[in-house]
Amino acid sequence: MRASNAHDTPHSPLRAEIDLGALRRNVRRLRAHVAPAALAGTVKADAYGHGALPIARTMTEEGVDWLCVARLDEGVALREGGIGGHVLVLGTPFADEVATYAAHRLDATVTSEPVAAMLAAQARKAAQATGRPLRVHVKADTGMHRLGIAPEAVPDVLARLYAADGAKVAGLWTHFATADEAASPFAATQAERFASLRADLARAGVPAPPLLHVANSGAALLREPLQLPAGTAALARVGGLAYGLPSSPDLAAAADRLGLEPVMRLVARVVHVQTIAAGESVSYGQTWTASAPTRIATLAVGYGDGFPRSLSNVGEAAIHERRYPIAGRVCMDLTMLDLGLPGGAGAAVRVGDEAVLFGHGGPSALEVAERAGTISYAVTAGLTARVPRVYTGTR
Ligand SMILES: *Cc1c(COP(=O)(O)O)cnc(C)c1O
Repeated sequence: MRASNAHDTPHSPLRAEIDLGALRRNVRRLRAHVAPAALAGTVKADAYGHGALPIARTMTEEGVDWLCVARLDEGVALREGGIGGHVLVLGTPFADEVATYAAHRLDATVTSEPVAAMLAAQARKAAQATGRPLRVHVKADTGMHRLGIAPEAVPDVLARLYAADGAKVAGLWTHFATADEAASPFAATQAERFASLRADLARAGVPAPPLLHVANSGAALLREPLQLPAGTAALARVGGLAYGLPSSPDLAAAADRLGLEPVMRLVARVVHVQTIAAGESVSYGQTWTASAPTRIATLAVGYGDGFPRSLSNVGEAAIHERRYPIAGRVCMDLTMLDLGLPGGAGAAVRVGDEAVLFGHGGPSALEVAERAGTISYAVTAGLTARVPRVYTGTR
């Protein structure tokens, strides 16, 4: 892929730099860490805001041959962008979508008993149209209670799908609710429920599917690997950590130990600098007032870019490696920083300088998330289409 740089977007005073070199290094470290499980790169929601196609291409070049998306249209977009390999759609398939799954060689998730019946009924037609079986993965609900089949119903569902003409059962999986909290006992409870499901299968004489997958980023780094029955392999469905985005402080420490790096950096230019008098306020609602004469820098970033408005008066940004607090409310297009006293360190800040909102040289996305009352994934996935994604470091 061609490397692009800041000069490719000369008309935007704001950009999200995506370091594909950091992504490659993260993928290599994660693949080695999860082996013998295979890494399934999770690229839903436009790869957590990083750009699904460039991320998927880079992961594929690194030898990742499983990708996960949340929705059918995301899987179709990968295929239309030339991505081969396995693509698993994690969300619920509808009856009128099965032909599209089949045509684009997308693996479907069996998220309920009615979905199992629907896929079993449609598999033959889909297989006849494409000349290959419709691939499905059964999702067991071990406690997240979002999507999935109750463990006690899974053996029958699997038996029905094994018997369905034109269907190929590729996997059995579940999803953790608390895997990124090292001390959470609930992740162990969910793992035990999955293990007893496997024992139930053995007792019922229903073979386990060839692939078992339970790990997300949290489980991949903080949990013991699964003991796998003979004849099965494992996948680790990793999203956040591939982008160097830990979702919790526990995971941040583990990610540091593994040498994972942030892939995204959000950079805005200073568009205006002024000195205001003591007693003057900044931005809508007058929520910030200068206690002394103060330099104020205005940055070209706002909630219209997906920069959280909840950072008003609590966030920070870095200019020339020095942190400054956000003064007043974050606006749709602009955000103000308190540079301090006119004679202080902030006096060197000029119009045109670059401020790092998060990423190398500024706060981490996790730190921004904690200040904003959200999680790191929402910080990057929330960036809007107005923010140009600029790809660097293709090696
Ligand atoms: C998003 C998602 C993942 C990846 O989670 P990370 O915490 O980003 O690693 C894995 N499995 C499912 C079902 C998901 O929805």
